[in-house]
Amino acid sequence: MHISVNIICPICKVKKVINIPKSIVNQAKQLSTISIPKGTICKHHFQIFIDKNFSVRGYQKVDFELGVQKDSEIKNISSPYPVKKEMTLEEIYNEFWEFIDDNNEVFRKFILADKKRRNLILNTVIKTVNNRDLLENI
Ligand SMILES: [Zn+2]
Repeated sequence: MHISVNIICPICKVKKVINIPKSIVNQAKQLSTISIPKGTICKHHFQIFIDKNFSVRGYQKVDFELGVQKDSEIKNISSPYPVKKEMTLEEIYNEFWEFIDDNNEVFRKFILADKKRRNLILNTVIKTVNNRDLLENI
């Protein structure tokens, strides 16, 4: 099962639709990183960040490529990288806050000040408790 995804090279802006196997997007994680090797879209090597719904959420240039390492071509990340180097921590947080763990040290001050996130955490806790109650009743 493949999903067609429209990719734009972040360096030369060449566009191409590629087919991504459904299995490489980790449904347990919000964002997966996929490495696009040279020759797939254009002559550049770059990475895309893709969400569970196969929407491209960001691009990152790869400056150095050390040979071909199959294991590292497709890897999942638990915390997103800044897409642009000039982004401030706050901008990164605002862009990716849904994907940042609650106990992330780097973003701690934004997490603590973030009302929408606190609501989300509260909702999650309530849901977890309810599920457990349901199980016990069965
Ligand atoms: Zn390119």
